[in-house]
Amino acid sequence: MKTICFIISARASYSRVKTILDSLKKEKKIKIDIVVTTSMIINKHGNVIDNIKKDGFKIGYKIHNLVSDENLTYQAKTTGIAIVELSNYFINKKPDMVFVIADRFETISASIASSYMNIPTIHLQGGEITGNIDNKVRNANTCLSDYHFVCTDKSRERLIKMGELKDRIFNLGCPSIDLAKKSLEIKFNKSKFLKYTGVGSKIKYENFIVVLYHPVTNEINETRKNIRTLFEVINDLNMETIWLWPNHDLGTDLVSKEIRSKRENSKSNNNIFYVKHFDSIDFLVLLRKAKIIIGNSSVGIRECSFIGTPAVNIGSRQNNRERGRNVIDCSPNKSEIQKAVKKQLQNGRYKNDYLYGDGESGRKIANQIIKFKGILKP
Ligand code: UDP
Repeated sequence: MKTICFIISARASYSRVKTILDSLKKEKKIKIDIVVTTSMIINKHGNVIDNIKKDGFKIGYKIHNLVSDENLTYQAKTTGIAIVELSNYFINKKPDMVFVIADRFETISASIASSYMNIPTIHLQGGEITGNIDNKVRNANTCLSDYHFVCTDKSRERLIKMGELKDRIFNLGCPSIDLAKKSLEIKFNKSKFLKYTGVGSKIKYENFIVVLYHPVTNEINETRKNIRTLFEVINDLNMETIWLWPNHDLGTDLVSKEIRSKRENSKSNNNIFYVKHFDSIDFLVLLRKAKIIIGNSSVGIRECSFIGTPAVNIGSRQNNRERGRNVIDCSPNKSEIQKAVKKQLQNGRYKNDYLYGDGESGRKIANQIIKFKGILKP
C-alpha cells in the first residue's frame, strides 16, 4: 500500500485534482491522504471542505496557516507556517509521495517540505507561463518535484529546457478539463442555482455575464483603479452580471473593499449579483450558459476554451499562458475592455478547443501514478 498525500490549499486546487482522486479511490494499492491548508480552511469561498467530504474523501489534516494581516509579509509568512506544519505532518505520517498542485503562492510550502524530507514529489501544471508571482512559484515547484504532469506540449518542452528528465514528464492534459467535459452533459437548470445566496440584486439567470477578477500581487497599487474601471464597464453594459469574490491573495481586501463601496454607492445598476463561490461543476454549467466571462481568472482560458465561452482577459495576470480562440486580451483600460466585450458578445460561443486536454486526464494521470516507484530526482 502506498500513501499519496495531496496538499489542497484553495478551491481552484480541488477542481484540478478531483478527477485524479476519483480514479485513485478505486485503486486498492493506493491510500489517498488529503491535507487542506490556507484559504481552504476559511469559509470565504464557500465550504470546499464539505464538497470534498461529499465526494467521499476524508480530510487527513487541517493546517491553520493563513496570516490574515494583509501587507507585503502576508504571503511569505503564510508559506513559512505551512512549511513548519507540513514537515511535522510528513515526519509523523510518512507519506510515500506528495502531490503538489500548480502555482498558488503557498503551494511552494509543500514542495519545500517534501523535498527536504526526501519524499518523492509530483507536480501538476508545470511549464506554463503567466504573469504575477505565480510564474516563479510554478517554476520553483517544478525544480523541487520529481515527477511532472503537464497540460500542453509546449509546457513539456519548457520543462525539458529547464533540465527535467524527459521520462518523468507526462503530458496527459489538465484534469480541470475533465470537469468541463462533464459539465457539457448537464442541462442548465435555473432552480439548481437558487441555493446560491449572495448580495446585490437577484437575477433571472437568463441573459447574463460572469465577472471574476483577482488582485495582481505584483501590481497591487493598481488594484482599486482597475476594479473601478471594470465596474464602470459593467455598469454601462447593464446586463445581468454574476460577480464572483476574488481568491485569497495579496490585494484581495482591496478588491473586496472596492466592490463593496461601488455596490453601496451605485443605484444605477440593479443587475449585479455578487456571489462567493459556486461548486465546481455548477460553476462550469453556469459558464456554459453565460454570454461571456470577464476578468483575469485562469478559468476563462482553460475550461472556457473547452466549453467555448467567450472570455475577455484583462491585464497581465494571465500573460503568455497558452490560449485558445475564445480569448480576447486587453489592458485594464475602459475603452479597450468595452471594445473586447462588444466583440465577444457579437461573436457568441466558440467551438470546443482541446488545447488543455480531452476531458479524460484524471484517469490517465491516476494510471501513471500507480506505476511510480518513488524515485527521487538524481
Ligand atoms: N472555481 C470554482 N468555483 C468558483 C470559482 C472558481 O470551482 O466559484 C474554479 C474554476 O472552475 C477553476 C478554478 O476555480 O477551475 C480557477 O479559478 P480561480 O479564478 O479561482 O483561480 P486562478 O486559477 O485564476 O488563480
